[in-house]
Amino acid sequence: MKLALNNISMKFDDITAVDNLTVTINEGELVCLLGPSGCGKSTTLFMLAGLYKPSSGKLYFGEKLVNDIEPEDRGIGMVFQNYALYPHLSVLKNIMFPLKMAKVPKKEAEERAIEMAKLVQIEHLLDRKPKQLSGGQQQRVAIARALVKKPNLLLLDEPLSNLDARLRLEMREEIRRIQQEVGITTIFVTHDQEEAMSISDRILLMKDGKYQQYSPPQDMYDFPENAFVGMFMGSPPLNMIPVMLNEGSITIKDTEQSFPNPLTINQALSSSNEALLGVRAEDWTIAKDTSEIRLTALVELVERIGRDTLLSATIGRHSIRALVDPEFTIQPGDAVDLTIRNDRFHLFDAKTEANLG
Ligand code: ATP
Repeated sequence: MKLALNNISMKFDDITAVDNLTVTINEGELVCLLGPSGCGKSTTLFMLAGLYKPSSGKLYFGEKLVNDIEPEDRGIGMVFQNYALYPHLSVLKNIMFPLKMAKVPKKEAEERAIEMAKLVQIEHLLDRKPKQLSGGQQQRVAIARALVKKPNLLLLDEPLSNLDARLRLEMREEIRRIQQEVGITTIFVTHDQEEAMSISDRILLMKDGKYQQYSPPQDMYDFPENAFVGMFMGSPPLNMIPVMLNEGSITIKDTEQSFPNPLTINQALSSSNEALLGVRAEDWTIAKDTSEIRLTALVELVERIGRDTLLSATIGRHSIRALVDPEFTIQPGDAVDLTIRNDRFHLFDAKTEANLG
């Protein structure tokens, strides 16, 4: 089912938890709601669930306006952080519960519950009680229970946050597999950008209740619409260096270091000529004699991380981090000339932080 949020806002007294949000979610896609704590992810999910009614705006499921539709009439399945399984009921009875409430005959309910248990691969655990299950298994039961009524929309609120690191990885792949097998439109709340990158068709990134960007994960990483998006996606975060833009050249602020600007600037600067140069750590590399971009950095710290060497350095008084090939022997105190691979950098307006490209 396709969803549309049209100018949706949610106010709690003087707090605007969600501020004029407009997005369309395509049928069958898995969309992560991503952003720092308090940005409005859960509030958005609760509005989709019908637990909160938007203060303003229109919410559509398919062509149907659902603002005033009760949660139980929305055709949704929901999975919470703490699973919320019934402790006194067996796994089978937990999965059957929504069908029992809907007065589905027992035999049919049992068959459907077993079918769901197979989908989430827990058919060997049907007689157990929740406390006899691992966290990952409990989560599988919660997913089976959420899907048993064949909802049109699956809502997941930080479903992996109570699992240890290894199980998180396993369960996020499982959630993706199950979602694709069923083909259900799914909204997944997380504050973990790596989790969102790995699992989604699209990510909706929010900050302070406001829309920041809505894109496939790789686009969000490669083409951040503003500085916040660039910094939020990826680890280490995007390097941000204050620069001055002058007729075709970029000068690092408070230094004499500059280079010709190969990027097309599509947006006018809001004021002055100040901008932010955004470079991913992995896009720095040691300059060659022929490099047009050449910035001298003073190395402060050298760390070996897996296949790469992570340099912490300064260009002028601006700190940067660069992942470079370990074939170069670099010591703290060295001055190294860095270039940017394939002109892979961004320019953001210093004031509005919008990408100027
Ligand atoms: P987290 O990752 O910490 O769960 P979130 O992105 O899900 O955060 P929300 O829970 O949606 O954020 O909260 C958004 C803002 O709205 C916060 O400032 C929060 O304090 C506020 N808020 C949320 N629910 C209520 C409520 N019932 N009453 C008052 N304020 C609320």
